[in-house]
Amino acid sequence: ERRAALAASSGPGTTSDGHRVPLLANVGGPADVAAALEAGAEGVGLFRTEFLFLDDSATAPSEERQLAAYREVLEAFPEGRVVVRVLDAGADKPLDFLTPVQEPNPALGVRGLRALLDHPGVLQTQLRALARAAEGLPVHLEVMAPMVADRVEARAFAQACRAAGLRARAGAMVEIPAAALRARSILQEVEFISLGTNDLAQYAFAADRQLGSVARFQDPWQPALLDLVAAAAEAARTTGQGCGVCGEAAADPMLACVLVGLGVTSLSMGAAALPFVRTALSHHTLAQCERAAAAARAVDTAEEARAAAHSVLSGE
Ligand code: PEP
Ligand code: MG
Repeated sequence: ERRAALAASSGPGTTSDGHRVPLLANVGGPADVAAALEAGAEGVGLFRTEFLFLDDSATAPSEERQLAAYREVLEAFPEGRVVVRVLDAGADKPLDFLTPVQEPNPALGVRGLRALLDHPGVLQTQLRALARAAEGLPVHLEVMAPMVADRVEARAFAQACRAAGLRARAGAMVEIPAAALRARSILQEVEFISLGTNDLAQYAFAADRQLGSVARFQDPWQPALLDLVAAAAEAARTTGQGCGVCGEAAADPMLACVLVGLGVTSLSMGAAALPFVRTALSHHTLAQCERAAAAARAVDTAEEARAAAHSVLSGE
């Protein structure tokens, strides 16, 4: 099935009427690059850099070690766009040297960008390693921060990027409902946003993403999640900036069409999903995607949203 999808689909992501939607891959390190290239990824939309830090939680990896790993990924996409996410530690990814050991609710504690702003040396080392890794390469490096809550945090991250001499565009992940609602103010500080729909769902529904008993809230078709995506995408549209999605939602071909209809400008996903998403997009016009998005937001449950989008996209 995967081979058939690969054969049937190649080239850049576009709707059937030629609306461009760059299709990017989520990678966890150099080991994932081959699969991304094979699936025809136009670049990387989410490079999760945690892997470098998690094999030894006692100390941060040296600048040289980070540089080598980043360089390997950047070199694989010579003309492409590579969006690197700085370290997202805390909650399910605790690190002894960075995140507090005793917090009653680690998912609501000092995690993601907050932990890095508390340890500016760790952030500076990572940003410097990234700046050096991109030196002399034609790649379009972009760097984004995880778990940005508001404009104050977005500004602090943008300043840290400038202080490290990074010439890459700086962005913010929108994974907290407050950030989705106020995306326009965050976009005053950074150049793009990227929606992490996994955490966005977790925080929108107050439902732990790792807990099976509340898994139904993690369904990315939940209309409330689509509303938050729409709010962020609309903000980016008015300011003329990019609004990507790099959470699991982008890997569902039909939902990918809905996200494009909501105004999302690029989609990043695990490589295995790329050919299916490319094919789905190529079968629908932007106007159809917009109608599917409106239909999905007009109902009250994930199941109904799926059915409503399906009925629009299949022309029923
Ligand atoms: C997300 O939260 O949707 C996301 C892309 O980040 P992660 O899954 O690594 O938390
Ligand atoms: Mg996340």
